[in-house]
Amino acid sequence: MNQESAYSMVIGLEVHAQMLTQSKIFCGCPTQFGAAPNTQVCPVCAAFPGVLPVLNHQAVEMALRTGLAINGHINRTSEFSRKNYFYPDLPAGFQITQYEHPIVEAGELFIEPEGQPRRRIGITRIHIEVDAGKSLHEGIPGASWVDLNRTGTPLMEIVSEPDLRTPEEAGEYLKNLRSLLRYLGVCDGNMEQGSLRCDANVSVRTNESAPFGTRCELKNLNSIRNVMRAIVYEAERQVGLIENGEKVVQETRLWDPDKGVTRSMRGKEDAHDYRYFPEPDLPLLVLTEARIDKARAALPELPEAKRLRYMQQFGLSSYDASVLTADKDLATYFEAVIDMEEKGVRPEAKSAANWVQVELLGRLNREGHELSASPVPPQRLGKLLLLVQNGTISGKMAKEVFQAMFESGQEPEGIIEARGLKQVSDTGTIEGEIRKILDANPAEVEQYRQGKTKVFGFFVGQVMKATRGQANPQMVNDLLKQMLAG
Ligand code: ADP
Ligand code: MG
Ligand code: ZN
Repeated sequence: MNQESAYSMVIGLEVHAQMLTQSKIFCGCPTQFGAAPNTQVCPVCAAFPGVLPVLNHQAVEMALRTGLAINGHINRTSEFSRKNYFYPDLPAGFQITQYEHPIVEAGELFIEPEGQPRRRIGITRIHIEVDAGKSLHEGIPGASWVDLNRTGTPLMEIVSEPDLRTPEEAGEYLKNLRSLLRYLGVCDGNMEQGSLRCDANVSVRTNESAPFGTRCELKNLNSIRNVMRAIVYEAERQVGLIENGEKVVQETRLWDPDKGVTRSMRGKEDAHDYRYFPEPDLPLLVLTEARIDKARAALPELPEAKRLRYMQQFGLSSYDASVLTADKDLATYFEAVIDMEEKGVRPEAKSAANWVQVELLGRLNREGHELSASPVPPQRLGKLLLLVQNGTISGKMAKEVFQAMFESGQEPEGIIEARGLKQVSDTGTIEGEIRKILDANPAEVEQYRQGKTKVFGFFVGQVMKATRGQANPQMVNDLLKQMLAG
């Protein structure tokens, strides 16, 4: 929708997160991604008659941690239900999920899209459920195959309130949620591989205070970018309908990322279509206070708390703190850089924040590498920063050394030595060079003394040239001023 449009959007997201448990939720099968089809299947997850589910408590723990991290209400008693439907990738003919009493209700997540105020987005609920298998349609003319490896993988479904108002807010919400799940170690957040999946519910209305319009649910959104694109398209489609005097029909629509359109997939099911009933083979899920307290005490420092700490403790800007804490691995890297210590000195946090974002991430992005594949470990970057701080090399030289460290995997000292990059910070030497330059350029000295201070830059350039760029620039500046004055 364009800026002038009188319509506004209402968006709610349903996020499915595969939990990082070692094994499936009701059997002992492994959950690794990418195994050959149907090699991680047993009678339980293939739903042979007579099998019984045994709940994997690691999955409960992960949902509980997540519920606490979003400040949600933890239901002391929750319940599993059967959701019945028929689909080739669902061998049991039903999905075990939580319906009436989910493990978590009434949570929240905060978003702060660039340049906009911080907003609270309500989270209606988190429930635990099982994933289905996968139907494979590609490369098999005239047939579909079913892979049951994914069947029985534990999922969390995280349902937001219809609190989001723009595609940017939806993107931000998803980014923050993914970051949180990764911090908690409960989901790897990989949208391409489908371990994090998002359905977007979108409706439009004529103004901010009108009642909500009829919504459509969008599926097949395999990146944050596609979530945002699909919402934009869908809102425009709905506005088009309304402007034409037609009605929006509540339905599920499939996003086609190549064509950039959504297409009707199926009409909206109502709850009664699924004939929910309590799962007879599982007891109620009861959480004791002790268990909840223990989970709360074991929560790691979460992105929001870390962001505030970076601002307070290190004096970083809100922007820098957000970038560095958005990704847990990046935050860990940054903390290891500034933890590098030599003779009681540590790298200065602001400069470390700059180096990590500009030099390190810049180079990694150019090479298409993940942080985990960085050839420069954090301690080594820390050492480089200390060499700048103690004047051994200039910031400019350090950039060259960093690139060489990245390419060779070597220590900074070796590179500095081999390239003869040591900075000259010795007063006597620099004074000697300055004296020579001043003596060789009496006319310029005269100009300077008559107030044409522009020639100062000329002298700096000459001294740097004479020392092959190795003179400490700050010292050159200071000494030049003194000597020109006197
Ligand atoms: P269902 O059970 O049919 O999926 P829910 O009530 O659970 O329906 O809502 C699903 C999602 O749709 C939630 O994320 C909710 O925020 C969102 N939603 C509900 N009403 C609207 C609306 N009018 N416009 C956009 N999103 C909505
Ligand atoms: Mg739903
Ligand atoms: Zn199994």
